[in-house]
Amino acid sequence: MEKVRVRFAPSPTGHLHVGGARTALFNYLFARHNNGVFILRIEDTDRTRSTEEYIEAIIEGMKWLGLEWDEGPFRQTDRFGIYRDYVEKLVREGKAYRCYCSAEELEERRKLAMAIGKPLKYDGRCRNIEKIQDSRFRIQDRNPVVRFKMPQEGQTLVDDLIRGAVTFENSQLDDLIILRSDGTPTYNFTVVVDDVDMKITHIIRGDDHLNNTPKQIHIYRALGYEVPKFAHLPMILGADKTRLSKRHGATSVMAYQEMGYLPEALLNYLVKLGWAYGDQEIFSREELIKYFSFENVGKAAAVFNPEKLVWMNSQYIMNTSSEKLAGLVIPFLIRDSVISGDSELDAGWLSSAIDTLKERAKTLKELAHLLRYYIADEVEYDPKARDKFLNEKSLDLLIELKKSLEQVAVFSHGELEIAFKAIMENHGVKLGALAQPVRVAMTGGTESPGIFEVLGVMGKEKTLGRLEKAIKSIADQRA
Ligand code: GLU
Repeated sequence: MEKVRVRFAPSPTGHLHVGGARTALFNYLFARHNNGVFILRIEDTDRTRSTEEYIEAIIEGMKWLGLEWDEGPFRQTDRFGIYRDYVEKLVREGKAYRCYCSAEELEERRKLAMAIGKPLKYDGRCRNIEKIQDSRFRIQDRNPVVRFKMPQEGQTLVDDLIRGAVTFENSQLDDLIILRSDGTPTYNFTVVVDDVDMKITHIIRGDDHLNNTPKQIHIYRALGYEVPKFAHLPMILGADKTRLSKRHGATSVMAYQEMGYLPEALLNYLVKLGWAYGDQEIFSREELIKYFSFENVGKAAAVFNPEKLVWMNSQYIMNTSSEKLAGLVIPFLIRDSVISGDSELDAGWLSSAIDTLKERAKTLKELAHLLRYYIADEVEYDPKARDKFLNEKSLDLLIELKKSLEQVAVFSHGELEIAFKAIMENHGVKLGALAQPVRVAMTGGTESPGIFEVLGVMGKEKTLGRLEKAIKSIADQRA
């Protein structure tokens, strides 16, 4: 069998968005599953809308997601010479023609066609233009476009790996412009030339391109090349069933990085938008590569569900080593001003702090936020929590605990438990009556990991300092 070669071909007119990333992912998985080649091609022929910044942003997004390509990035603007050669070839062979109709003439004819209910496509006036007329127009300096001669009869079958057989009436196909009057080639043409030139075997893209496919098939045939296989992926919709857009929240891949998502979690979520493998939800990259096939890709549009994505991310955070999370959370701590760029946190200590929090944080951003009370020099009390738990009722308990902990050398779970139990028995109170005030003293709030874990991470010095501060604050209230 011939070697699988696929490509992701974004137009750099915006950031890499989740729809594009899913297309890239399916191409990547299909290539890896088949030991094939994955190509990145930047379709930047629309020079008014393409920017260098977006090219970089797309590459950054691909790298963050770990979607490594094998060839490229190729840029269409580097390949104009190749497209023009192919245009000339088609003109020479009578499969394309120069069209001198001006924009005004076309508009006039369009209006007329509309008035009498005729199809709005190009009427083919220049299709059989005489050589002599052609040169006369050239002398007049009329800048022609080049149009492709589409067949006007019969049907075109697109045998799609996902959608099955889709038939198009050729009478609906326009003689499309393949070269603009300024000499730049157009999308439907460049895409075919590149796919031919790069020996692409499977075209995997969003099904918003399905209507382009019959046109492209005729261009393959005119160029004398075999038509590749097509797989059109179902659309991604928002909760209101309209096409996913900014109205539905963040759509750019890098916005998810900023919000504290792990790339593996986002990929795992994206693959499930259209692909399923039994009931399994969480897949390693190796599993995705092993199991991926178009047989398991659905035809129906997929709905983007931000809550499910958060859930997926929380699963990945829980199952990522604390050492790795420690490295990933640093930029978030800096951004949150929990630490400054040049402060040195002990990596081992940070990992042990994360050990206690990773089941509670759904994103790296939340993790950074929770780490705040472990790292900051001063704790800030939530006023409600302070009023409820740091008061006369808890004063003696806190004083006694502080005294007792001063004698404890190592803050192990066992030692802490002995100290707490003694005080509870002395005062005839349950764990909550002691742990909640201590929790507020340590973290400023009423929710945290188990109190012994918290004290273990804080260590002796910080714990005693915070107990002292709590005791003082109660005394101050009294004054
Ligand atoms: N450049 C096109 C786009 O971004 C993709 C073309 C294709 O995959 O055939 O929509």
